[in-house]
Amino acid sequence: MTHLYADLFTLVDRPLRYLGGEPRTTVKSGPGIDCRIALAFPDVYEVGSAHLGLPILYQCVNAHPKLAAERVFAPWPDMEAQLRSRSLPLVTLETQTPLRDFPLVGFSLQFELHFTNILQMLDLGGIPLLRRDRGEQDPIIIAGGPLALHAAPLEDFIDVFAIGDGETMIVEWMLADAGWRAQGLNRAERIARMARMPHALAPEHFPDAPVCPARVNLTGHPGAAAGPVPLVSVFARAAIELSRGCNQGCRFCQAGMTYRPFRERPPREVFSQVECALHEIGQQEIGLTALSTLDYTGADQLLTKLACVIGAADGSLSVASLRAYNLSEAVVDAMRTGRGGGLTFAPEAGTDRLRNVINKNVTTEDLLSTVSFVAQKGYSRIKLYFMCGLPTETEDDLRAIAELGHQVHRTAQRAAAGKPPRITCSVSNFVPKPHTPFETLAMTPVASLREKHRFIESHVNPRILSLRFHNPVESHLEAIFSRGDRRLGPVILEAFRNGARFDGWRDHFRYDLWTRAFESCGVDPQEFLRERSWDEVLPWSRVDPGVSRAFLESEHRRALAGEPTTPCLIFNEDGDDLVCHGCGVGCDTRAHAADKRAILQALDEISPQAPPRPAPEPCRILLTYSKTGHAVFLSHLEMIDHFPRILRAAGLFPRYTEGFHPKPKMTFGPALGHRTEGLNELLEVHLESPQLSDPQDVLARLNANSVHGLVFNSYELIGAETPGLARRITHSIVSLRIPPATTDLEELRFRIGEIMASPVLELTRSHPGKPDRIFDARPSLASLEAILLGDRIHLVMHIRNLTTSQIRPQDVLSLCLPDLDPEGTTIVREGFVLTPA
Ligand code: SF4
Repeated sequence: MTHLYADLFTLVDRPLRYLGGEPRTTVKSGPGIDCRIALAFPDVYEVGSAHLGLPILYQCVNAHPKLAAERVFAPWPDMEAQLRSRSLPLVTLETQTPLRDFPLVGFSLQFELHFTNILQMLDLGGIPLLRRDRGEQDPIIIAGGPLALHAAPLEDFIDVFAIGDGETMIVEWMLADAGWRAQGLNRAERIARMARMPHALAPEHFPDAPVCPARVNLTGHPGAAAGPVPLVSVFARAAIELSRGCNQGCRFCQAGMTYRPFRERPPREVFSQVECALHEIGQQEIGLTALSTLDYTGADQLLTKLACVIGAADGSLSVASLRAYNLSEAVVDAMRTGRGGGLTFAPEAGTDRLRNVINKNVTTEDLLSTVSFVAQKGYSRIKLYFMCGLPTETEDDLRAIAELGHQVHRTAQRAAAGKPPRITCSVSNFVPKPHTPFETLAMTPVASLREKHRFIESHVNPRILSLRFHNPVESHLEAIFSRGDRRLGPVILEAFRNGARFDGWRDHFRYDLWTRAFESCGVDPQEFLRERSWDEVLPWSRVDPGVSRAFLESEHRRALAGEPTTPCLIFNEDGDDLVCHGCGVGCDTRAHAADKRAILQALDEISPQAPPRPAPEPCRILLTYSKTGHAVFLSHLEMIDHFPRILRAAGLFPRYTEGFHPKPKMTFGPALGHRTEGLNELLEVHLESPQLSDPQDVLARLNANSVHGLVFNSYELIGAETPGLARRITHSIVSLRIPPATTDLEELRFRIGEIMASPVLELTRSHPGKPDRIFDARPSLASLEAILLGDRIHLVMHIRNLTTSQIRPQDVLSLCLPDLDPEGTTIVREGFVLTPA
């Protein structure tokens, strides 16, 4: 099937964003599907496809035989312009179905600065932006994710909010909606019924009591890593979610409050997800994710054993959200599996005093001793996260950010025997978020945040510390939409109409569009940044996150008094129960304690078994493959990223280079030109051992894990004496396919005769800022002939593989047919001539 956007792919940046067809996608079409949902992520593909939630929901839905989920991401502005100019709709990746044709569209709400992209996607998807304008044929628009717990500004646009974890909710809602449609209920009736589903919040039918979030136990639910493998992503790693929720109780952290209680994935499931990512999908980097990774029960043991499995597969391990205390040798050693790299810590504030206010359970002493320890272990890049604008903050606290950065630098340098470390301090602006103990506080004004930034900067030695600040204006907009109410709906709509898109992207953020929108809607943004009182009805009061207001208020008071609160759900002094501060979530601490003991026991029982690998017997293989169709949009660098994964997934074990950043030893043929097809491309790979027991099986496994359009054709073992691929390629064989009836074959052959008889072919290459280079390209053109195949003339040439002065197919075309418009001509690399093995 020709892609609906086929004509646009040469006109937009990174067409891979719109192609679909990635490994591990599910395409369900035809009868037998009772309900379909378009899972919409309001950011560009490479950002959205790296997100954890979307692939989890995708798998939950598609695991049901009667349900189907497809994906759609926000088109980049260049694609939006093309779609609008051609009146083409926004379609899903899987079946290229316009959003308006789904019964349900589900948006993921992750970030306040995505709001205008939601409107962009609705608009391009052919769906009226405002809830009240939608008719019988329009989908029901659902929105879930962390922001659904305080999404009053979106109430004009979203039909139903889904509050809490989506794993089971999405399947239940889809099955219910399929039943309502089978009963003949109209759209309004379906929305009314959906509004009565557990954890639903529908602006048309607000319930009398606040809605509680759905909470799932992670056991048995799919992990993100087993979902579609992105063609291009901001993270090239398999994310394994160890736990959800957090027991640390940081008072600024919304996720730490709203995802309570802390829930852990059973160790056996963690191991099976890691093994799937390594061996079935072929991922090399495994990223453990959690709000606080090392709070996983038995984290040392888990990481040590995972490191064995990952190391045995030549993989590497990264760990998110490391706390800067009690970092054991086992953990640091595990993280060094397969790579060097850097570490990130989040002290958040410069002084212990302010860390007590925000309940960040780490001291300066903890941080420095951890830095010393990791620097001794070889980590030289350390990133520190801080916030400014925190409650009770003084100039001493701000100065301490700079001082702490310098102390970390000195400590790391001393521990690494003088080797200079690279320390980066990233300073964000504190946003008092709903459902946290700081929800009633005012946001620090922009001018004051800028002053604080300048103050910190004035105390930093830029030669040893690199300093980054978040834009205070963006933080303010985030705060406005986080804390705002329904009055902001018209502002979002107006900003969208003014052209606001991708507000979370620095290059695209235009605050002037928002200023105009606030003014023309007569809405004062300061109204949403002001201090609130604890007895005020807040815009987010329709959701009860589980943590009680009494607890939030008491934590607020303790914060202002500088009193920390210890983490919960850790074993008490007697070791017979867990600590609980009665936040309102109502944990059964004895049940949690039993779960923790079960985790420890399971970890004891797990003895990591790496899959059998053939005895090392280094060898080389030569693979041929074709790169056609969608794969022509993969750049050479993107191919280099994909091939190791495909090889590993096929059970081939590439050999790796030595050093801090080992890379698979692979040699490609000369890079293919931009968006050029190749029919017999070459790849030489060094393997740990020959895998030739069943070459057909290996080819089948390579192709099963490959990218659409990248097809492996053959596979041969190369003798040890055979020179490397780069030295074996003598010629490239290229054909230029000329449109029918654009030239006379006999005249062309005459011209070819003249060219080949010419002793010199002088060409000029121009490079910006450099003098023109004139050279003789004749030695590189070994042969040239014109062949009629069907109604097309093929200009077939053998180009010698020279390091300089090489002719290009486009040069040959302009020599042969100087008046021909090259637009309609297709260049195909047919293959290569090699010296015998
Ligand atoms: S109920 Fe107790 S143990 Fe559970 S999250 Fe709240 S404070 Fe922690």
